[in-house]
Amino acid sequence: MSILVAGGCGYIGSHVCKMLSRRGYDVIVADNLSHGYEDNAKWGKLIRADIGDRAALDKIFAGHKIDAVMHFCAYIEVGESVQEPAKYYHNNVANTLVLLDSMLAAGVKNFIFSSTAAVYGTPSRVPIEEDDPKVPINPYGRTKLMVERILADYDTPYGLRSIAFRYFNAAGADPDTEIGEAHVPETHLIPLVLDAALGVRDSIKIYGSDYNTPDGTCLRDYVHVNDLADAHIRGLEYLLNGGASNIFNLGSGSGYSVREIIDTVRKVTGREFRVEEISRRAGDPDVLVAKSDKARDTLKWQPSIGLEEIVSTAWKWHQKYRSNK
Ligand code: UDP
Repeated sequence: MSILVAGGCGYIGSHVCKMLSRRGYDVIVADNLSHGYEDNAKWGKLIRADIGDRAALDKIFAGHKIDAVMHFCAYIEVGESVQEPAKYYHNNVANTLVLLDSMLAAGVKNFIFSSTAAVYGTPSRVPIEEDDPKVPINPYGRTKLMVERILADYDTPYGLRSIAFRYFNAAGADPDTEIGEAHVPETHLIPLVLDAALGVRDSIKIYGSDYNTPDGTCLRDYVHVNDLADAHIRGLEYLLNGGASNIFNLGSGSGYSVREIIDTVRKVTGREFRVEEISRRAGDPDVLVAKSDKARDTLKWQPSIGLEEIVSTAWKWHQKYRSNK
């Protein structure tokens, strides 16, 4: 079985490639290397291609017998999506249409899409269930919701069978330290706190301590990237076995505050660093916690990696990454 992993050089995509390869799948990575790293393509053939390039995609599908496509190519910065929405709509929506056109023209009908908790906007209740209202509050979330709707519309007329996984906070790294999280610029909490622990930054800033939560800082649902990768393999096998199109939340079901993350980093690293409390970042809801019972029931998926291990795998990889820079 051959799987085309679009965006396989990025953070989540590369962890999925490693797991696919370990489970016996042939992996073909299509990545334009705009944000991903060539070194991350260790588990399959890398084809340097942009998913907006129809001719390049047609060539990939003509040259390989692809059984399913996993799509990880997207811009993911909420703030940037507000400032430069065209960039987001072009890449996250229009280019996804090109990928879908090309795969359907080649007769490939199984598709796994990276969606996000951002489709819910400010949730109406927590933990969040898949059928809860989806009112994204920024262009990033809207691009992901648009693609979810496109996938639903393509199902019956084009025979496309898809899974959209709504990730909560992807975190942690490969325990073998071959790959990990390194966004440029980095906006995510855990790698930023690890940089503070390493002294790469002089402090970590808490964005808001007046939220309606027990310690005043935002609660998020952190899920290890290898638990996410495992869900992708289960989703793939579900589709290959004839499962119908579906949408799943992927989260641990536990919420941790920004302060709890900082405390866990202190505990795991044994390092002290400065913490500053500043004003809120625009667009952050108080609490985002998933109810992932649907993935548990349908895919038999069970996240197995807790917060300390998330932070310790991230720390191990992060030290190696910073020492190589
Ligand atoms: N956060 C913070 N300081 C930072 C980065 C993030 O306080 O330097 C907070 C952010 O406001 C949010 C949580 O940490 O409440 C997780 O943010 P992240 O950007 O990692 O993920 P998001 O939840 O936005 O997808």
